[in-house]
Amino acid sequence: MSRISTTSVGNIKVTTLRDGERTLPLEALKNLSDEDTSRINSDENQSFTFTNFNACVIQNGKQNLLVDTGCGTLFGPTCGFIIDALDELGLGPDDITDIFITHFHPDHIGGCINEDGSAVFRNANFKIAEEEHNFWTLKEFGSDEINGRDWSSLAKNVLSAYDAQLEVLKSNKDIISGVSTVPLPGHTPGHAGFRVDDENQSMFHMGDIIHVPNLQLKDPNICTLFDIDPESALKSRKYALDMASNDNLLCTSGHILEPKFIHLEKRGSSYFITS
Ligand SMILES: [Zn+2]
Repeated sequence: MSRISTTSVGNIKVTTLRDGERTLPLEALKNLSDEDTSRINSDENQSFTFTNFNACVIQNGKQNLLVDTGCGTLFGPTCGFIIDALDELGLGPDDITDIFITHFHPDHIGGCINEDGSAVFRNANFKIAEEEHNFWTLKEFGSDEINGRDWSSLAKNVLSAYDAQLEVLKSNKDIISGVSTVPLPGHTPGHAGFRVDDENQSMFHMGDIIHVPNLQLKDPNICTLFDIDPESALKSRKYALDMASNDNLLCTSGHILEPKFIHLEKRGSSYFITS
C-alpha cells in the first residue's frame, strides 16, 4: 500500500508521508467513559486505538519543506518508513531544503538523526517555533515525567545535529512562502499546526490535536497521557476542529488515518469526516 497521498493547494503540492502505524495502549488514554472502555476492550481489530504516524512534504516549486520526520527506529518494526515514503515521492534526503517540526516528541523527530547522531537531512534549514525551542532547551526534566529525560535528550541531540541550520521562528513568521504556522499550545507548549494558502485555496494541518481519530473526533474530551497541559490541549483541539469545520477547510494531521485529506462537519459536540 502506498505511503503517500498528494493534493494541490493553488500551485503548491502537499503530500502526506505515512511513516508507520500501531495501536496505542489503553493506559495512554484519559477521560474514557466506561462505555468507551468496554467498546475498546471488546474490539478484536483494535480499531479505536489504532493510529498512524504521518509527516508531510510541501513543494512550492522552489523549496521542498518536510514537516516532521517520523519515528526513526524508536517505535518498533511497523514505523520508521519516512525515507521509503520520500522515495515514493521521488525525493531523497538531500532534496529537502527546509524542515519544520510541529513539536519535539519522538514520533516527530525520531527520523531527524542517524544512529551516530548526525543529521539525516543535511541540506535543510531546520525551523522550530520559539516556545517549543525554549521548552526543550531551558526546562530541567525529571526521569519520571512522561516528557522526561529520554525524550528531552533526544530533543537536545536533534537540535545539536541541526545547530548550524537552526532557525527559531517568532510567531506569525512564514515557514516558507505560502506556509504559515498555527500555534496550538497544550500538547507541548510550542506545539503548532500550519496552513498552506495559495490562489484562494487553503489547507490546514492540525498537528497533534488528536492521536486516536476513531475516538477523539466523536469525543474531543478524550486525550492522551502525552498532552503536557491537558486543559490547553483540549482548548486547542476544539479551536482547531471548529476552525476546520466552520471554514470547511481541507485538513490533515499528524495521526490521521486514511483518507489523509478530509473535511469535517460538527454535529453536537462531535466531528464527522465528510470527505
Ligand atoms: Zn505525535
